[in-house]
Amino acid sequence: MTNSKTDYNKLLSGIVQELKPYFGQGQQADYIPELANVDPNKFGISLAFLDGRTFTYGDSEERFSIQSISKVFTTAAAFGLIGKKLWERVDIEPSGTPFNSLLQLEQEQGIPRNPFINAGALVVTDVLMSNLNDPYADMLNFVRELSGCSSIEYNQVVVDSELDTAYRNAALAYYLKSFGNLDNHPIEVLKLYIHYCSIEMSCTELAQAFHLFARRNRLDCNIPDLTPSQLKRLNALMQTCGFYDESGEFSFLVGLPGKSGVGGGIAAVYPDFYSVAVWSPRLNEKGNSILGMKALELLTSKSGLSIF
Ligand code: GLU
Repeated sequence: MTNSKTDYNKLLSGIVQELKPYFGQGQQADYIPELANVDPNKFGISLAFLDGRTFTYGDSEERFSIQSISKVFTTAAAFGLIGKKLWERVDIEPSGTPFNSLLQLEQEQGIPRNPFINAGALVVTDVLMSNLNDPYADMLNFVRELSGCSSIEYNQVVVDSELDTAYRNAALAYYLKSFGNLDNHPIEVLKLYIHYCSIEMSCTELAQAFHLFARRNRLDCNIPDLTPSQLKRLNALMQTCGFYDESGEFSFLVGLPGKSGVGGGIAAVYPDFYSVAVWSPRLNEKGNSILGMKALELLTSKSGLSIF
């Protein structure tokens, strides 16, 4: 189905030409002060077919803060570890509210709407803290294993910067604890969550790591197996909940399961065919990369390679 005659290098440079009117729109996240120090004009994309062909453009090899894209890796790990019991503590519905909303948690009695909003990711982090021998090293090794890159690290400067200003996430963690939906101390969970968000990867490393979700084959690794059925469900969650309160828009425009982060990254998959990662730090008001979303819309429209 992927057209081997298509010149994907040409396709990517054509997409970048069409993006030009959008250059300079939006701003990088600055509520985590260190993220505001990133050059806002960076742009990279990496398209990695399951048959091994990879096409890249721009700053595709430069590492950036993956932020909420880490929520896909942590949810995958927690799902692999405790199976469907995970869904007793975190729901699987789109939120329609900002990623750090406190209001919804109050209304829904401490059960976060999904694992990709911050409250849900804190519960997932709590599960990892309780079930991994070394939740810091084990998750890093999981991501390294998936991407085939052993030098991936947490960025301590980003960790410290976020910890200094994590008032809202701290509130969420304490609030979850008050509902009995955290087993560990809220501050310990928050610290671990912020470490996961601080992982730095390049577009090419992310696209490679997301082959797990594109391939949907059983994965045997140091974190318990993920079955094809579990991987299918993780793709479903990305499709419905991967873009904060803009998940419908992304689905409508792009038509792929994916996940964004406030570092300006987006990773997405076309199951059985490819994964793709794009990075551009300027965000729209919902927290999604403007050029990233547009680039993926153009990619799926021009190539015809989307699930819809
Ligand atoms: N560490 C960020 C936060 O919790 C992640 C947000 C995001 O990328 O959506 O606010």
